[in-house]
Amino acid sequence: MSSEPVYKRVLLKASGEALMGSQGFGIDVAVADRIAADIAEARQMGVEVGVVVGGGNIFRGVAVASKGGDRVTGDHMGMLATVINALALATSLRKLNIDTVVLSAIAMPELCESFSQRATLYHLSLGRVVIFAGGTGNPFFTTDSAAALRAAEMGAEAIFKGTQVDGIYSADPKKDPEATRFDHLTHKEVLDKGLAVMDVAAVALARENAIPIIVFSIHEKGGFAEILKGGGLKTVVSD
Ligand code: UDP
Repeated sequence: MSSEPVYKRVLLKASGEALMGSQGFGIDVAVADRIAADIAEARQMGVEVGVVVGGGNIFRGVAVASKGGDRVTGDHMGMLATVINALALATSLRKLNIDTVVLSAIAMPELCESFSQRATLYHLSLGRVVIFAGGTGNPFFTTDSAAALRAAEMGAEAIFKGTQVDGIYSADPKKDPEATRFDHLTHKEVLDKGLAVMDVAAVALARENAIPIIVFSIHEKGGFAEILKGGGLKTVVSD
């Protein structure tokens, strides 16, 4: 395994659940700090990093819709939750002196900059970590779709989908001891088998733009850097 990174520009997707740690709700600052340390390691290797954060640890739009409320308003609340997480992760990165900018799909200039592709490329060129907040800015989407969209817009060589386990398994490894990890799958196989890695829209967008998806455990300290160097435990989804 080389010490040089295999990838020069990547998009990391961190779900809200990842930031929650073992708490039932909200942000575990120790976990945010640990994920920030992994991102800092990638930056120290010279890798350009964009991050899409989820919001499920705080709010999901379906929670409103399932109780008879308006889904669009619920999704607006979910998108606001992603902004809270983005600001938390930016705070953790700045504690490590990693230059970081938050770009939101929903304008809130008092809190952070607004998203544009031009701003993204500018900040990346200055070596800043770019955290994308607010998902796609549209209801009925997910932050997985936002990850595929931003990856395409920033010209990322791969989407790193951080999950609770170290790849895609034939069955839930927490329930089935016989479950085995796939080393490689195509985007089409993921779609055809209905594997719950990222939602269908996200996988389809990644496929259309020929962006590999690397599924790995976000809880493995140093795991992100290992995979950036070509090692580590993961499933690679590519055509
Ligand atoms: N959301 C949305 N549009 C987007 C991204 C997110 O409406 O483009 C809302 C949606 O309500 C979703 C919530 O934000 O449930 C949190 O995002 P997500 O569920 O993707 O977060 P994660 O599961 O990654 O924590």
